[in-house]
Amino acid sequence: MKDWKSLYEECMSCQKCPLWETRHNVVFGEGPQNAEVMFIGEGPGEQEDLSGRPFVGRGGKFLDEMLAMIDLDRSKVFIGNMVKCRPPANRDPLPAEQEACIGYLRNQVALIRPKIIVCLGRIAAMKLIRPDFKITRDHGQWTKKAGVEMMAIFHPAALLRDPRKRPETYADLKSLQAKIQEVCDHTY
Ligand code: SF4
Repeated sequence: MKDWKSLYEECMSCQKCPLWETRHNVVFGEGPQNAEVMFIGEGPGEQEDLSGRPFVGRGGKFLDEMLAMIDLDRSKVFIGNMVKCRPPANRDPLPAEQEACIGYLRNQVALIRPKIIVCLGRIAAMKLIRPDFKITRDHGQWTKKAGVEMMAIFHPAALLRDPRKRPETYADLKSLQAKIQEVCDHTY
């Protein structure tokens, strides 16, 4: 396992999969290195690629609003992605790209040692929770893996596209709020 600085430096110059050829910036993720809660999406979009920061476009602003609904400040959580470079035209990251990149996220999780991981959307949930994860069926359900409480909610971009999913997501967020109160030590 690498320390944070070495991991960051390696990731910033990574060429382990073809996504490096079209990226403007590697999006390493951001948040406290002792965050108790991590939010993980599938990969950077256009605004994230241009800025080098996770979830800063329309979806990111909506994520901020979702967090505010449960009094969760973005600065208190770690927000990142499974793949650190933008897939062209926002397509889903390919299995080989996910496999090439997942070691960075695993190393981040090992260093941060979160109590809770929330997957944002189907792709992250299939990789991090289980391969047959169905987001419409399984969102909001808690699973414990290696001592970490895990659940998935709809991706903010999906909630922008389909507002009918928002009431279910609000219930998932309330469940997250209760889980934070149950297992976390920090003040939120
Ligand atoms: S997506 Fe991940 S594995 Fe691929 S080049 Fe970027 S940092 Fe490296």
